[in-house]
Amino acid sequence: MANTKFIFVTGGVTSSLGKGILASSLAKLIQAGGYSVTIQKLDPYLNVDPGTLNPYEHGECFVTDDGAETDLDLGHYERFLNRPTSQANNVTTGRIYQSVINKERKGDYLGKTVQIVPHITDEIKRSIMLLGKKGDYDVVVTEIGGVVGDIESLPFIEAVRQLKWELGSDALCIHLTLVPYLAAAGELKTKPTQHSVKQLLENGVQPDILVLRTEHALNSNLKHKVALFCNVDRNAVFESPDAKSIYEIPLLLHNQGLDEVAMTKLRLPIKKDPDLEHWKDQLNKLYNLKESVDIAVVGKYVELPDAYKSIHEALNHAGMVNGVKLNIEWIHSEKLTEENASELLKDKKAILVAPGFGHRGIEGKITAVKFARENNIPFLGICLGMQCAVIEFARNVLGLKNANSTEFAATDAPVIDIMEEQKTITNMGHTMRLGAYPCKISDLNSNAFKAYGLETISERHRHRYEFNNAYLEEMTEKGMSATGKNPDSDLVEIVEIKSHKWFVGVQFHPEYKSRFEAPHPLFVAFIKAAVS
Ligand code: GLN
Repeated sequence: MANTKFIFVTGGVTSSLGKGILASSLAKLIQAGGYSVTIQKLDPYLNVDPGTLNPYEHGECFVTDDGAETDLDLGHYERFLNRPTSQANNVTTGRIYQSVINKERKGDYLGKTVQIVPHITDEIKRSIMLLGKKGDYDVVVTEIGGVVGDIESLPFIEAVRQLKWELGSDALCIHLTLVPYLAAAGELKTKPTQHSVKQLLENGVQPDILVLRTEHALNSNLKHKVALFCNVDRNAVFESPDAKSIYEIPLLLHNQGLDEVAMTKLRLPIKKDPDLEHWKDQLNKLYNLKESVDIAVVGKYVELPDAYKSIHEALNHAGMVNGVKLNIEWIHSEKLTEENASELLKDKKAILVAPGFGHRGIEGKITAVKFARENNIPFLGICLGMQCAVIEFARNVLGLKNANSTEFAATDAPVIDIMEEQKTITNMGHTMRLGAYPCKISDLNSNAFKAYGLETISERHRHRYEFNNAYLEEMTEKGMSATGKNPDSDLVEIVEIKSHKWFVGVQFHPEYKSRFEAPHPLFVAFIKAAVS
């Protein structure tokens, strides 16, 4: 393979059109055609990474193996490509400026005036090319966050312009825009698309391919009109209709020939028809679920679906494997009390307590754990959810009424405590225990071992607090055991209650590693317990 090919995905008219899904779908098709592909997200905000962002602002923070706190779109990239991403796959304006300013302070610019053009744009170009340089990828797909025309996107668009100029047929720009339907006029409107392409052209970028997001099928006249006014080839206008599942989008785009047109424009030989057999099998399973199962997820950002994106996807993957449709009730932890727990949870076949930070909603989460434990309802606690399970067990089984995490209160029973190395940290950004760590499953009779079928696993972390080993012996004696531990630090990673139908708490985040073609074993086992 000679040169790495670069595909840029820009968005026009409005946000939330599904650029991430488009990038993931095209990358999937090229991958299934026999190439190694990765996807990168450029985010035009000044936070160095989204780790410090409240989920209300930007949805879930996704974590990679190498410990990068990233945009949730990286979750889609991994779920579609079934390959891990890394820090290099997510770059924000903040990170770009930070590295330029660091270089300036070191004197690397040799007395030059440091400017947005060329220094910021060069740094953006460097971040894009970096993924191609290692030789690991035939194709790098780069999604430009935000909408064309935003002030903050301008340096990114300028970098795309320069790279297109430099790379010639090794680079391609795909622009995703909206074709709205005006009910009163009974018509689909192309003007917003024309304006957004004009905006790109003003910035010197001619899109090579247009993907039109629409809620109604587009006829060929309309596509020809768009092609003519936007200066793109007639065969390079595609539509992205609403689909029942995001996992159908690659197939819908392939049927229109998007991958073929993109690869032809990039002069990337079409080696074979994309191998999508397994993908189609999975989709077939997803579209033929019989039984419905009611489960509850207890968290504090439940009004915002994107805040638990990976958990939602992992649950759906697990439902697909088990052949059941999950009716997930998202329960706000602040609204859950001892008084209403039974009413809200009694018909649920499984209860998941979500990760989180801060004191708000904690008592509701602990109540949910208690209800699951006492009523033998399959339970999965993730990170803070696991910590709540430990607190609940300590309070109600060990009788330590003050049991708590030192994150929430000073207590004489700190069953969850801050890690030693965290005590001196004052900065909030990128200072948690982050990324992949090994975990040894010691107990071969545990639910964890039965799920994974492995003694050593690797899972991703994002937290500051830990199970306090001073309480382990007493916990174990009373029925909550540590079935998985970090082999190096002895930190407890998995707790289980053996006498319970299926009760597992994990300090790590298994949801980050569930993929459409490789659903996560722990989620699969959890839903299996719910239906058995
Ligand atoms: N707030 C807890 C901690 O920092 C849990 C974090 C999480 O759920 N991701 O340890």
